[in-house]
Amino acid sequence: MNTKSRVLMIITIAVVLITLALGYLYYTGALKKYLPKKEFKLEEYQYTDTVIYSPKEYVPNLVLVNNEWGIDRDYDSQLEYYRDTDVLMNKYAIEPYGQLSDYIKENLNDKMFVSSTYRSYEDQERVLGEEGEEVAAKPGHSEHQTGLAMDVYVKYHAGMGFIDSEVGKYVNSHCGEYGFIIRYPQGRKDVTGFDYEPWHIRYVGHPHSDIIMSNDLTLEEYLGSFEWFKWYQYGDYIISLQKKSLFEIPAEIADKEIFCSDDNRGDIICWCKIK
Ligand SMILES: [Zn+2]
Repeated sequence: MNTKSRVLMIITIAVVLITLALGYLYYTGALKKYLPKKEFKLEEYQYTDTVIYSPKEYVPNLVLVNNEWGIDRDYDSQLEYYRDTDVLMNKYAIEPYGQLSDYIKENLNDKMFVSSTYRSYEDQERVLGEEGEEVAAKPGHSEHQTGLAMDVYVKYHAGMGFIDSEVGKYVNSHCGEYGFIIRYPQGRKDVTGFDYEPWHIRYVGHPHSDIIMSNDLTLEEYLGSFEWFKWYQYGDYIISLQKKSLFEIPAEIADKEIFCSDDNRGDIICWCKIK
């Protein structure tokens, strides 16, 4: 082999190796944080008249719990038992979880189990002690304490292996239709603080789950996409980020059912089905 063809061969091997390495990094999501971040914004909703509104009650749907934003030891998780089990969940997540579980049983011929849902502040202290800070959240900073998050599995496929199962694949691409999100998507540790957890689903409800899942967002990015007092439209819904408990709403929704959730960052998100 002459020098020229040897150099050519080395270059070819190098190009192949670099392509493979980049491909692998892209696949694992490690490159995502170096790619330009896409700016997510919902379309603004146009209205003219407003009325003053004060929420009578709040739903827990959009409470943000992460390494930065924590909840108190005595946070009201509104716990109820899931169907005829001893599994405690936030009452708002029970029916949606049941629908997801029923679909799996009826159409995928498998049974999805919950390995962990509600964890108290004290439980989290113990988990942190056992697993360490790399994988476990600090007490008050685990969204399991809200009762809105579940760790799920099927027989033979738990943890990371969940995504290799038919149920895991279904849950990871369709959970938005049931009001759930994959809370820690692949390659988003820079935003969520956690590596990919295909088994950890979090209830946020409609239309938020649909928006987050179809746009490949994290809960952090979704909540960060709203400007105060503006109303945004998504399908049949309008959504707004408000600052205080008394605010102005578009007059045409005054007689409709309006939902409001504390986002745990000091703000309130309100939404309403307009059609
Ligand atoms: Zn979890």
